[in-house]
Amino acid sequence: MLKATTVLAGALTAAIATCAAAEGELNIYSSRHYDTDEQLYSDFEAATGITINRIEGNADELIARMNAEGENSPADILITVDTSRLTRAKDAGVLQSIDSDVLESRVPAYLQDEDNQWFGFSQRSRIVFYDKDEVANPPLTYLDLADPAYKGLVCIRSSKNTYNQTLLASIVTHHGAEKAQKWAEGVVANMARAPQGGDTDQMRGIVSGECDIAVANTYYFARSIRKNVKGISDNRDQIGWLFPSQNTEGAHMNLSGGGVAVHAPNKENAIRFLEYLASDSAQAYFSAGNDEYPAVPGVGLAPSIAALGHFKPDDVSLSDVAKNLPEAQKIFNDVGWK
Ligand code: FE
Repeated sequence: MLKATTVLAGALTAAIATCAAAEGELNIYSSRHYDTDEQLYSDFEAATGITINRIEGNADELIARMNAEGENSPADILITVDTSRLTRAKDAGVLQSIDSDVLESRVPAYLQDEDNQWFGFSQRSRIVFYDKDEVANPPLTYLDLADPAYKGLVCIRSSKNTYNQTLLASIVTHHGAEKAQKWAEGVVANMARAPQGGDTDQMRGIVSGECDIAVANTYYFARSIRKNVKGISDNRDQIGWLFPSQNTEGAHMNLSGGGVAVHAPNKENAIRFLEYLASDSAQAYFSAGNDEYPAVPGVGLAPSIAALGHFKPDDVSLSDVAKNLPEAQKIFNDVGWK
């Protein structure tokens, strides 16, 4: 009896596999800019027989394109970085709510949209870097970055950068708009230079001597441990780092994630792909391939990112933080943060 059941189950699995190969396609619109994501796609194709077609571009352009394509859009999935962009996609109406027990149970609730329109798959922490030779007492919290003691020392990106937009929205969430505005004013007053460049450039500024304190996402620094990053790797010993706000809300987490397109022609494959991204193997790949923290608890870290040490992450709901993005934008404008 047991044997017969096993044979039958085997036949069924084969039938499903054949079916998937016959009709399996998945169209992904992605704004993740990492070559290493290739492995994620090819592993999924090998495991499922589903062919992935990919369109890459700037997140806002992809969202606009999905909107313009309307019901005829071939997009099944949108993958992007930062909560602010995931929220913009939701607000633009290009995503849909989905039901998935796998995603509900694997992805922590605070890394999901409250309507299940997007799910986070990897995280990075936005932390403080500093010149070990110049700064004896680095800022221990985000609020401390506005302390007049650091006047002229701080390098941080433009307010047009989504990572900063979400960071400020989280400060609004934790401390209120008034305190957040004072904070932004203080940071502008402490800037070593007008905002310029990407996260890596803020750390390069420490090496070049332009900046004593820099704000950047962890994966840019971890990358300089894993491989040679010009302007950082050779002088890494000079750069200290700390996870801010460890006695209060915890270190701010920046999210990368995705959701199913509102008119997805291959909705089942789309859900299957998102569930695959939450699997142990894909989660480990986010860490090994791009120095990110897996969203799913219990998945091991690559050595480059484990080297940064343990810390307390801010586990405020990013769906709630997203509600303060308009307030954050207003504050940036008001205080003249370029
Ligand atoms: Fe980035």
